Amino acid sequence: MLVDSHCHINFPELVQNMDQLRADMLTNEVGHALCVSVTLDKFPEVLAIAEQYPNIFASVGVHPDYEDIQEPGVAQLIALADNPRVVAIGETGLDYFRLTGNLDWQRERFRTHIRAAKATGKPLIIHTRNAAEDTLRIMHEEGAAEVGGVMHCFTESWEVAQAAIDMGFYISFSGIVTFKNAVALKEVAQKVPLASMLVETDSPYLAPIPFRGKTNQPAYVRHVAEEIARLRDIPLQAVMDATTRNFFTLFKHAQPCN
Ligand SMILES: [Zn+2]
Ligand SMILES: [Zn+2]
Repeated sequence: MLVDSHCHINFPELVQNMDQLRADMLTNEVGHALCVSVTLDKFPEVLAIAEQYPNIFASVGVHPDYEDIQEPGVAQLIALADNPRVVAIGETGLDYFRLTGNLDWQRERFRTHIRAAKATGKPLIIHTRNAAEDTLRIMHEEGAAEVGGVMHCFTESWEVAQAAIDMGFYISFSGIVTFKNAVALKEVAQKVPLASMLVETDSPYLAPIPFRGKTNQPAYVRHVAEEIARLRDIPLQAVMDATTRNFFTLFKHAQPCN
């Protein structure tokens, strides 16, 4: 069975089809999913899903793309994470693609999440876009290696992957790896050790081929895993086994339920 290590199924286009979405997961051998928070506002929705379904876990955090919203504090994140259904802190990180100008607040917010993760022992879900150098620097400065985590929806170079792996982080591939023009990323997916790899959908965004442009859903993580198996010339089962084992090793508070 597979795990979708990163999805946003509390978003309206997915949450209203939960029954179908969960049936499709089973059909595609996707046993579990991690529903990731993007704002404090929406965290109760994420938690409610994880409390209703034992095979869906939650995270708590505030995405770097949201500027004018309630800013999280370390103590607040620690308090919200004090729940057995919350297995990770994030998503957090830096995004210099969507936003420009003075982004001191983004870097400060990232540090807040790393401090909360270290205090709770719950690993980090890190988003980085056009900001790899600062992301790695802040991870070093804040001692993120102490708690570990995942570089989600990875689109950076092999050198960045290596630096993250050296800090004990996992590399998670999304549907982008199935895109024809993602030549460099396909090479990274051949090089990252299976022991450091996760797979995800980031649904409802980034549907893999053959669903590109449509609404993504956790079941489609199978197409990500199939592409990685094809690229490495190994059986799908090997990708399934490794990424599922990695998920439950990293997110040690997540209890598998089948
Ligand atoms: Zn992200
Ligand atoms: Zn996300």
